[in-house]
Amino acid sequence: MISPSPQVSTGQLVVITGPSGVGKGTLLRSLRQAHPDLFFSVSATTRAPRPGEIDGKDYYFSDRGQFEQMVQAGQLLEWAEFAGNFYGTLRQPIQEQIQQGKLVILEIELTGARQVRQSYPQGQQIFILPPSLEELERRIRDRGQDSETAIARRLARAKAEILAADEFDLQIINDNLEPALAQLEATLFPKTG
Ligand code: 5GP
Repeated sequence: MISPSPQVSTGQLVVITGPSGVGKGTLLRSLRQAHPDLFFSVSATTRAPRPGEIDGKDYYFSDRGQFEQMVQAGQLLEWAEFAGNFYGTLRQPIQEQIQQGKLVILEIELTGARQVRQSYPQGQQIFILPPSLEELERRIRDRGQDSETAIARRLARAKAEILAADEFDLQIINDNLEPALAQLEATLFPKTG
């Protein structure tokens, strides 16, 4: 549980969830480029690295034993199984960054988002929707990085996740990158006055 002390200036936690293939990666890469001050959490995962992915930058790639140790030691703020692999958010860096007043972004799936909602209800939760299920399937296939089995699992999970979009504070439809990014920025950096 993150418990921000009222004496220190505290940052904010923003959870971004959306089905696999919805374009979260591209959206968040653009957000990161435009706002280098944001802190993007690097998750631990038991998934094998995809071509080009770097340990410590894209994920902390771990084996199951290491992951289970982190769970048992209470080092994860949340964790979930997704498409046969474990994914989890390291608690300590998040806590430190929030205490330093940073805006912290977690890009995680639905089960994890629900856990964070319990432990950090003051966080903001945003759901990214595809324009349609057909378009989502096309995007997953175009990525060409997953086996047929993995694609089928990701699609089934995507449908279940989309049904939960209403639980989130805000839903953004990622049809085109620019308007989706503008909507995300308007939410993260509301204009005052
Ligand atoms: P991918 O394998 O495509 O990188 O990620 C699969 C799913 O795992 C995505 O929906 C992504 O948002 C989610 N994910 C990534 N890191 C975490 C994490 O730390 N916790 C949870 N619960 N989900 C995560």
